[in-house]
Amino acid sequence: MSDRKRNNRLSRRDFLKGVGAIMGATGVASITRVNPVGAKPDRTNTNGLTTHKRKYKYPWWVKTVDKITTEVNPDIATKPPMVTFATYAQAMIPDEEWDINNSKAKEYVKEGIINNIPGRTLPDLALHYALHSDMTLGSMGSFDSPRTVKIKNHEELVTYNLHPPRDFDLDPWQASPEEASRVLEAAGIQFGASMVGFTKLNPDWIYPYVKFEPGITEPVMDIKNMSFRIPESYKYVVLLITQGPRDLLIRNQSELGAAGDRATYSRMFNAGVQMARFIKGLDYGYAELLAAGPIIPFALEAGLGELGRMNRLINPIFGGNIRITGFLTDLPLAPDKPIDFGLQEFCKTCKICASECPAGALSMADEPYWIPANAFQASGKKVYFEDNLKCAKYITERGNYCSTCLSVCPWSKQDKAALHEIAKVTSVIVPSSGNFLSDMDQAFGYGLIREDDPEMEDWWDLDIPEEGIDSYQGKA
Ligand code: SF4
Ligand code: SF4
Repeated sequence: MSDRKRNNRLSRRDFLKGVGAIMGATGVASITRVNPVGAKPDRTNTNGLTTHKRKYKYPWWVKTVDKITTEVNPDIATKPPMVTFATYAQAMIPDEEWDINNSKAKEYVKEGIINNIPGRTLPDLALHYALHSDMTLGSMGSFDSPRTVKIKNHEELVTYNLHPPRDFDLDPWQASPEEASRVLEAAGIQFGASMVGFTKLNPDWIYPYVKFEPGITEPVMDIKNMSFRIPESYKYVVLLITQGPRDLLIRNQSELGAAGDRATYSRMFNAGVQMARFIKGLDYGYAELLAAGPIIPFALEAGLGELGRMNRLINPIFGGNIRITGFLTDLPLAPDKPIDFGLQEFCKTCKICASECPAGALSMADEPYWIPANAFQASGKKVYFEDNLKCAKYITERGNYCSTCLSVCPWSKQDKAALHEIAKVTSVIVPSSGNFLSDMDQAFGYGLIREDDPEMEDWWDLDIPEEGIDSYQGKA
């Protein structure tokens, strides 16, 4: 990395710090969260704790001591017998009692559903089971649990230890589309989504090998014959976006950056599995949207963002630091509307993603166009078609995912030094402000940490939040 770029980035941080301070003094910082920038914390605090950054936060009345505070005496200790691959409590309960308890629990659960008892309603239960997707310990806290668990495939992951109303001889959950959307949104956020959106099935986006059929009740995929049959009643779409750990993602074009990318996909996958379990728990069906069509058009229709120059979804709060998953379902949902935050005009002059793409895969054209770059791209849309072969080659030659375009986008910035907030708002009112923002970002090094930067390995000492995610983005 050139000295100019490095110096520029340091200046940018100082600059943003300064802007944050000014905004704080004027009261504007309340709309943002500025990460503290400064010297590394000492790894030993006054309590003598030397590891685990979270422990720095212990209050003064927590002391370190030489011995654990529970008295022990190994001389009189006995050891329990070896138990099976199950929790000790499961191992202690005899099989007959286990079965009786399961029957009692089933009646107890059914009572909650039938009488709509607050805290034990069907959506409450479906949420519980959606989150109960652990694969290791069997399942105390549910009924009819196997004592050992053997998950073999994705379908089992979605259906393992799940008890929809039909298991109690009850009907599927009944709710208005608005109520169903409200409940799915809350559940999706609990599952780790940063945002949840809804739309109706638009057949224009569906792959040619997909057929919607009236005579089937479950999706049937036949990969060998390139056929995916979906029940005709699956007319609704739920989409989840998950944000990624920005401190890793800004180290893109490195293994740390790739870890950030994978972490974002992992969060997406987990949230997706749990949403699928939730829908099944309400006794409705689901089909993976990714297998039925490209996911971004549905996300656009669900109001989760606009399509950027880089041909990825850009969300006005999370920028491009997101991954998307979605499902088709027969649970009637109230659709959201698409959004416009001025991105189309903004992208015309910004071009940061294209100029920073290490593979030269993104278009620098002044206007979007109708002609695809190759046969692997669908026509019929006016976009900045990219040379996706160049992108794929770059990524496969290095063995890690790049995502530079996603990280450099001004809308992805989380430094939130008020300037970006203001610029974002300005871009809606004065779209050509993309020029201003890209010039500023270029001058200050885009906020990236590059391969030869001494700060690259500092990630290991950052005081990051759980999973590296600022879950308050857009909420403060
Ligand atoms: S992922 Fe990297 S190589 Fe691919 S388009 Fe984005 S910046 Fe370019
Ligand atoms: S980096 Fe700039 S041009 Fe690229 S998608 Fe983001 S706003 Fe648009």
